[in-house]
Amino acid sequence: MPKRPSKASPAYSPADILKLARSSIQALKPYVPGRSIEDVKAQYHPKQIVKLGSNENPLGANPKVLKAIAKVLPKISLYPDGSSRVLREELAKYCSAKDGAVSADEIIVGNGSDEILLMIALAFVKPGERVVVSENTFSEYEFSGRVLDAEIVKVPLKEFRYDVDAFAKALAKKPKMMFLCNPNNPTGNYITHGELEWLLKKTPRSCLVVVDEAYGDYATEKDFPRSVELMRKFPNLLIARTFSKLFGLAGLRLGYGIGAAELLRETLRVKTPFNVNLLVQTAAVTALNDKTFINKSLSVNSKGRLQIEDGLQKLGLFYLPTQANFICFHVPRPAVDLCEELLKRGMIIRALKSFGLPDWCRVTIGTREQNAFFLTELKSALQRA
Ligand SMILES: *Cc1c(COP(=O)(O)O)cnc(C)c1O
Repeated sequence: MPKRPSKASPAYSPADILKLARSSIQALKPYVPGRSIEDVKAQYHPKQIVKLGSNENPLGANPKVLKAIAKVLPKISLYPDGSSRVLREELAKYCSAKDGAVSADEIIVGNGSDEILLMIALAFVKPGERVVVSENTFSEYEFSGRVLDAEIVKVPLKEFRYDVDAFAKALAKKPKMMFLCNPNNPTGNYITHGELEWLLKKTPRSCLVVVDEAYGDYATEKDFPRSVELMRKFPNLLIARTFSKLFGLAGLRLGYGIGAAELLRETLRVKTPFNVNLLVQTAAVTALNDKTFINKSLSVNSKGRLQIEDGLQKLGLFYLPTQANFICFHVPRPAVDLCEELLKRGMIIRALKSFGLPDWCRVTIGTREQNAFFLTELKSALQRA
């Protein structure tokens, strides 16, 4: 191992760094990820570990996808298709069947939907312009705005739901962009088609509205927004989705955006040349066409939701209704402590302090066995003072 240079002689002094780096990035907080299995193993050595902390697909990797990746591995010395043409065409087919006609030039792909959100901000948000985000939501919206030196306007939730009235009021500040997470991470609830349409009617075309539907695949309520239909009526609506949850590809990184071709053409100007790698382009096409895996994932989720809701109810814990693959529940003591207690037992869930909800936890809906383990360990952790 090479020796680390001594701390006594840093290459740059803190004052030098402040002069060198953009001052606005000093306020950026690193993304707080869920705890990893390796990390918990090393710290507590539990007999087994169940991870329901990051909303990943509990079925694990899709065997058909693994096969498809193995087939393409010999080609990794070659650059992938920078425009991901085949993948975007397959996505257009998939979305057209689900959402109504979408063409390949109305789709962009990125290294996770995180990159989609960032590219949209990079293309449209100018320094000093305003970006509206909600409190108690996914942190990447605020991050995307701050990186561009935008002014962040935050609106609170109302009764633990996104408050479209508050978003409409924030329009008085003439924002350039609004981000909505639907269903919301971490509360799991959603804004309806009518609410989104109402907000879009009030929003001038000079303000882009980005809905992040990372969990939209799981939504079953009839009045969940038909966002592609709304995009036809309101071309300032952009939709972000991901392969990290339902499709089980979080580790490979793929997200996509749907929007007016004119807006996406501008977004593509800031894209790095090969942002979506060869393996995931192949994996995603296979995953999209594997209806068996998709349907099994959805059915495990709907059964698991009932199982966890029933278990939380028996423990006397309050939870929010969910349209996603996780459940947000209230706990009678600091959630960080409770989650640490669960880690010792090999159970990884998420304390929501970093989302501004210190008395709440979020558990990913798992398989029948994983959910049972979670409920057993939760009960025993709660019994410890
Ligand atoms: C998990 C998640 C994503 C997906 O992010 P990727 O970068 O595609 O892995 C996006 N938005 C929200 C709200 C999420 O919870």
